[in-house]
Amino acid sequence: MADIWQQTLHWTPTAQQQMQFQRLYELILEGNRQLNLTRITEPLEFWEKHLWDSLRGIAPLLRDGEDEGDEGDEVVISPPSSPAFIDIGTGAGFPGIPIAIAVPNCTVTLLDSTRKKITFLEKILSELEFTNIKTLIGRAEEIGRQPQHRQTYDIALVRAVGTASICAEYALPLVKKGGLAVIYRGNWTEDEKTDLENAVNQLGGVIESIENFTTPLSNSIRHCLYLRKIAATPPDFPRPVGIPTQKPL
Ligand code: SAH
Repeated sequence: MADIWQQTLHWTPTAQQQMQFQRLYELILEGNRQLNLTRITEPLEFWEKHLWDSLRGIAPLLRDGEDEGDEGDEVVISPPSSPAFIDIGTGAGFPGIPIAIAVPNCTVTLLDSTRKKITFLEKILSELEFTNIKTLIGRAEEIGRQPQHRQTYDIALVRAVGTASICAEYALPLVKKGGLAVIYRGNWTEDEKTDLENAVNQLGGVIESIENFTTPLSNSIRHCLYLRKIAATPPDFPRPVGIPTQKPL
């Protein structure tokens, strides 16, 4: 897949990163026998929908540097040299684990409210000998109010957890001022933008860009929404557990 990585993300994994992707795949297949972790188990589909898609969201951070100037209107992510990520509703570890493998010197916190998913993740993290990944059990609504987590992350990631407004309410409180929330979506229509704009404004953010792209093997449509935090999130947010989904902003 080296060519496709290079053509699409301007990045090539090292031999060690490729080995870690392979091992991750094997461990997830193994875990899937007991836990319902993912429907995506075919190797190429796993590569595209889990590995490639996870990294596409942070593509501007990966670029090998040779083709600077070719950035078009892609979002500019310029976090510190050792960025702190949080992956909210990580499930089987996506997009957080591929990002922890690919981005040098980063730390990734994998957050999920389901204990058995976190127990599984802890097992695979010890087998893969990661030192830059932590796990956290809890609801985003509660974690976002804890001083040790609130406004402490450079980049929050959310994939397949809820509508864009719900994801924004989970993510923006956790992001530092100046940081980014990256919301991974399948379909996205312009009509949804007004609702999201309204939510993001209340949370201290702005919509910085919305990228649409197709995946490299099956040509499926995907979107990434990049929200920049420009002001502190008011203390009313996130609202108590369950409210963001029942009454989206
Ligand atoms: N991000 C993964 C998993 C998506 S499934 C992927 O893209 O493959 C959604 C996950 O979010 C589930 O594991 C669920 O337990 C978790 N989740 C849902 N609401 C949550 C909340 N409020 N706080 C934390 N985790 C949540």
